[in-house]
Amino acid sequence: MSDLAWPPLRDALAGEVPYGAPQLDVPVQLNVNENPYGPSQAAAADIAESVRAAALTLNRYPDRDFTELRGALAAYLNTDGGQGLVPENIWAANGSNEVMLQLLQAFGGPGRTAISFAPTYSMYPEYARDSLTDWVVGRRESDFSLDLEVARAKILAERPSVVLLPSPNNPTGTALPLEAVSMLCEAAGNGVVVIDEAYGEFRRAGTPSALELLPQHRNLVVSRTMSKAFALAGARLGYLAAAPEICDAIRVVRLPYHLSAVTQATALAALRHAPELLGKVDELRVERDACVAWLREQGLTVADSDANFALFGTFEDRSAVWQGLLDRGVLIRETGPPGWLRVSIGTPDEMKAFKQALVAVMEETR
Ligand SMILES: *Cc1c(COP(=O)(O)O)cnc(C)c1O
Repeated sequence: MSDLAWPPLRDALAGEVPYGAPQLDVPVQLNVNENPYGPSQAAAADIAESVRAAALTLNRYPDRDFTELRGALAAYLNTDGGQGLVPENIWAANGSNEVMLQLLQAFGGPGRTAISFAPTYSMYPEYARDSLTDWVVGRRESDFSLDLEVARAKILAERPSVVLLPSPNNPTGTALPLEAVSMLCEAAGNGVVVIDEAYGEFRRAGTPSALELLPQHRNLVVSRTMSKAFALAGARLGYLAAAPEICDAIRVVRLPYHLSAVTQATALAALRHAPELLGKVDELRVERDACVAWLREQGLTVADSDANFALFGTFEDRSAVWQGLLDRGVLIRETGPPGWLRVSIGTPDEMKAFKQALVAVMEETR
């Protein structure tokens, strides 16, 4: 008989709760940074036809190395900051969360350290925990930027095998300048530096992508997803661009045939419609800038955003503001440092509903 608790969870998981942004059925959902515009009729029809064709082959395992999809992703990235990327530079999985977990499984592990700089994405410590990697977190400045000297010193002191940094950052929207990415890559030595560009397509004009630096740094990994700008969160497709040795190494830890034939067919069809699916990105960026300006007009503090959301505050009782908005049918996210709230950018109608609700809530809680 064992004296283990029931169920016999690892000690490190005792009392842990699963990731869970509330999924509530309310009219205005501005809480998980989805694209509010669904795929077009033409894209949906092509996806459906591609999945129908794939269905006739579902007795067979899918292409383990999803070579055609890697080629299509490389071609897409070469239109958005990438230079000469080929299938061997690309890896993909069921969402970029899975891509990053695989990176930690391959390059983290017991006796190794992963690092990020907070406030940042809440999933990073979970990848570390689940891959038995030590987790270290540095701080961002009060404007959520990274002090390069502080960050460099932290990396030199901790010698992480993985550095995880979103650009634009979630939940603050802050993009990293290329000098910062280069500095991190140099400081990390043989550690890998993962720049998580989940929101890369929303960056403001003049903000570069870390993809531009891939030729200079063999330890740089740039992660992207089809969940945000591509309006395909439901399909679960995330990917990265990096040196071929990095992609090869991940193959050791991926599960057999992890990317289903249905997922591959869906992503390939979506990529054929990339200009259409990304067609609303410009509108969302305009709406984002208008939202940031409007929040500032209300006397609130708002972080500059290169993403499709805005972090604003500060509120003495942010839970009350969040609840007041929800009572009016508007779901946003209670995340970030104490006192701050995050709103995803929706359609003009959704933003109007958000603004009206926020004005009412601020009057009520004043
Ligand atoms: C939304 C998000 C992702 C994307 O997750 P998927 O698993 O690709 O849906 C990755 N990183 C950050 C920081 C995000 O906010």
